[in-house]
Amino acid sequence: MEALKKQQQQQHMECQVAVVGAGVMGLSAALHLARMGKDTLLVDQFPRLHSNGSSGGRSRAIRQANQGHPALTSIMSAARNAWKNLEVEGGTQLYVPKSMVTLGNSEDSFSMEQMHRCAVAIEEATGEPPDWPSIDEANHMLGSRFPSHYVAQMDTTAGVLRADQCLKTLLKLFQSSGGRMVDNWDVKKIIPGKPVILYGEKGTIIADAVVLCPGVWAEKVLRPLQVNLPKLKLERICLEYWQTVEPDKAPPYVFIDLSNTSHPYYSLPPVEYPDLVKMVYHGGVVLNNVNEIEEVDLQSERDRSREYVKRFFPGLNPQSVREEYCLYTTTPDKEFIVDYHPRHNNIVYGVGFSGMGFKVGPVVGQTLAEMVTGNPTSLDFSAFSLARFGSKI
Ligand SMILES: Cc1cc2nc3c(=O)[nH]c(=O)nc-3n(C[C@H](O)[C@H](O)[C@H](O)COP(=O)(O)OP(=O)(O)OC[C@H]3O[C@@H](n4cnc5c(N)ncnc54)[C@H](O)[C@@H]3O)c2cc1C
Repeated sequence: MEALKKQQQQQHMECQVAVVGAGVMGLSAALHLARMGKDTLLVDQFPRLHSNGSSGGRSRAIRQANQGHPALTSIMSAARNAWKNLEVEGGTQLYVPKSMVTLGNSEDSFSMEQMHRCAVAIEEATGEPPDWPSIDEANHMLGSRFPSHYVAQMDTTAGVLRADQCLKTLLKLFQSSGGRMVDNWDVKKIIPGKPVILYGEKGTIIADAVVLCPGVWAEKVLRPLQVNLPKLKLERICLEYWQTVEPDKAPPYVFIDLSNTSHPYYSLPPVEYPDLVKMVYHGGVVLNNVNEIEEVDLQSERDRSREYVKRFFPGLNPQSVREEYCLYTTTPDKEFIVDYHPRHNNIVYGVGFSGMGFKVGPVVGQTLAEMVTGNPTSLDFSAFSLARFGSKI
């Protein structure tokens, strides 16, 4: 009787394109598909706009300075414009412009190489080389005390994205374009083919094509489909907020410290909470798998950040007053992967966006939408295919 009842409650849905994952990537892809006139179904295992993955929270940095692959420069420029357009279309402020101060270490050749890569990206995007203020000027701007062998660089294109508002806007525009969403719907199994069949405990989805944006659940979703991903590093990140010693004295800049390039610190000015600076170590506790999230001990992360703030930021109280958590998924070369399924062109995916993906969300979504509908892509994402790891099957 119970089994019969369960069977009767099963949902059977059909669509032209199913998008799995309603983080920033999946939402963006779904919006583009709906706007292309595709009957699009967005599916997520959690309630909509949850904070369990990598897109939760209220803020993300956006910038043009890029020390990663040179192809990112034009992608980031396009993404900046896309966020500005979404802001107009959604009628909500998404992008708060704030110049960025980047610091490097003149005694460390790798750090300086990163600084120069950033300078090249800024000049390519804006037509102007960036300013390099003296470290004394930078310390004055940041209320910091970095030593004299540090160098500073400005990125005036930078800012803060109001991440929660970005997701809400994408969802609102998706739904007003005719898109449908089912949440609390865990996709357990995907059978490729024409059509693709997605099974979950709640029922079945039949789709002509599928976009997969599963975030930290990439291995679980893509391995059974025989997508030979490289080893992805999963990290639990502890985001801390620090109160200024004096009210209204928070530095109004985005800041990134590239002096220790393996794990930089960065900070965002108080856009979310008055007088609270978000200062974060760009790394965290490595997880063996996504199920370990709740077991992670973040005390060493807190201690390290407290030492950093104490040492370099006398204007901040060295005891954080607020903590939030997030997850990074990082590929071996720290660049993301956007590609087709190796044998089924009606399945595409985007994974491994580590700590930098939010800003490029709208153009990743656009690209995935173009790929899965068999259209040429407006931007060149070829540098981010799986083939670079030599593991295509
Ligand atoms: C602490 C932190 C700070 C960051 N700072 C910045 C920054 O300043 N600037 C920047 O540009 N980027 C930043 N990033 C990176 C950026 O936020 C991420 O790269 C981006 O949010 C990744 O989005 P996503 O859609 O790929 O993943 P997610 O947001 O994790 O979305 C994946 C979704 O897939 C769903 N899902 C997975 N498996 C299934 C399944 N089987 N069935 C149904 N649903 C499923 C999940 O529930 C989830 O909603 C930061 C990230 C973190 C964690």
